[in-house]
Amino acid sequence: MSIRVGVVGGGAAGMMAAYAASKNGARVTIYEKNEKLGKKIYITGKGRCNFTNAAPLDEFYENIVSNKKFMYSSLNLFSNEDMRVFLEENGIRTKVERGNRVFPESDHASDVTLAFKSALQMNDVKINLKKEVKEVVFREFTDEGMPRAEKLKFTDGTEKAFDRIIICTGGLSYPATGSTGDGYSFAKQTGHKIKDIRPALVPLETKEEYVKKLQGLTLKNVTLTVKDGDKVLYSDFGELLFTHFGISGPLVLSASSYIGKRLRENPLQAEIDLKPALTEEQLHERLKREIEGNEKKTFYNVISSMLPKSMLTVLPELLSIKKDERANQVSNEKKQEFISLLKAMPFTITKTRGFREAIITQGGVDVKSVNPKTMESKIVKNLYFAGEVLDVDALTGGYNLQIAFSTGYAAGTYAAIGDKDK
Ligand SMILES: Cc1cc2nc3c(=O)[nH]c(=O)nc-3n(C[C@H](O)[C@H](O)[C@H](O)COP(=O)(O)OP(=O)(O)OC[C@H]3O[C@@H](n4cnc5c(N)ncnc54)[C@H](O)[C@@H]3O)c2cc1C
Repeated sequence: MSIRVGVVGGGAAGMMAAYAASKNGARVTIYEKNEKLGKKIYITGKGRCNFTNAAPLDEFYENIVSNKKFMYSSLNLFSNEDMRVFLEENGIRTKVERGNRVFPESDHASDVTLAFKSALQMNDVKINLKKEVKEVVFREFTDEGMPRAEKLKFTDGTEKAFDRIIICTGGLSYPATGSTGDGYSFAKQTGHKIKDIRPALVPLETKEEYVKKLQGLTLKNVTLTVKDGDKVLYSDFGELLFTHFGISGPLVLSASSYIGKRLRENPLQAEIDLKPALTEEQLHERLKREIEGNEKKTFYNVISSMLPKSMLTVLPELLSIKKDERANQVSNEKKQEFISLLKAMPFTITKTRGFREAIITQGGVDVKSVNPKTMESKIVKNLYFAGEVLDVDALTGGYNLQIAFSTGYAAGTYAAIGDKDK
């Protein structure tokens, strides 16, 4: 008799786990509470699904923010290249774009789900849609000396026994897609520790009014630095965007993954270097050139070519130079004040936006109690975890979906074949 595997959640990790388990001879059923599989996949990569990143694996690991070592084994078992091959074998051509980001050639995220549907169908996986798992039932006292997962209970009052159960319920981000944190409760019920859960890859709120007045302005090629006292928590170069609540954009999303934990304790000081390619001396030279021949113009008029227009409107709030002060009246100290501001425009980050706007959830099932090779729980037999429900997360670029696929593949494979090395 083949092994019966129950997969809770039909997202990226769940579909992959079901595929891998069925390919290895298990009888697999997916339970998905939505009306369709992979609801979140449709909105990934702005509808194009950046499903993996083609970087060599050592570079790939650099982009994993939490618990990268936990990923070594599953990424070796099922790599970014394996994911491309999987899609190509299921009729979906793929392409690599800037930053090694990989997409379906069609630019349609739906193609990724389509590939899974066809692979699952070919392997006779049973798909139960609109079926919500309420509880994972486990037997407390067993011959093995540890609890054992035995069946699933559903919200419609029914239940079903399985030999192995894989939890792939995702995190808490974008809850409208079905990820409402159910897996954390299942894990807790079975004695697993849940590491502090918080939104990540998420915009940030700021205190100062002037930042909000810059709403709509995008800055390219700037450096954002976030500090806690003297300690630099994050510093990188790229693009950011001002919004009605604070800041967003690629640089800010990445920053949120590194500062979110500390931000829960206290607000953090941040600064933007608007001219990272130039030193203070070079900027003084530039200012001198701008002033030459324009001494009678106001200072703010003279510097208008050095900054975006909307920024000029907030500068008088940040500098002691008056609006009508002429360029030749501005003292050297005040000029230094301006140059210092260009190099370090200061503001305070108060908090992250919520889960509704977060691309991923940081924290989750403590990986210390999950076997990194098999994804099986170390404290409950026959129970496996895969995907965002685990305390593993990465930056943007296709890494998070690959984490879901690799952990899903490992969980499905070992749920079906068992771990012979144990
Ligand atoms: C807007 C947005 C864009 C993104 N873009 C990218 C991208 O381009 N590249 C990338 O790598 N990552 C991207 N991500 C992140 C990526 O989508 C997730 O990391 C990934 O989907 C996690 O997969 P998962 O299977 O673990 O969880 P999910 O995809 O969230 O799937 C979990 C599934 O479990 C189901 N479920 C939950 N509880 C139950 C229950 N009790 N019973 C039955 N079913 C249940 C849910 O309905 C859901 O379908 C993006 C995320 C967002 C929000």
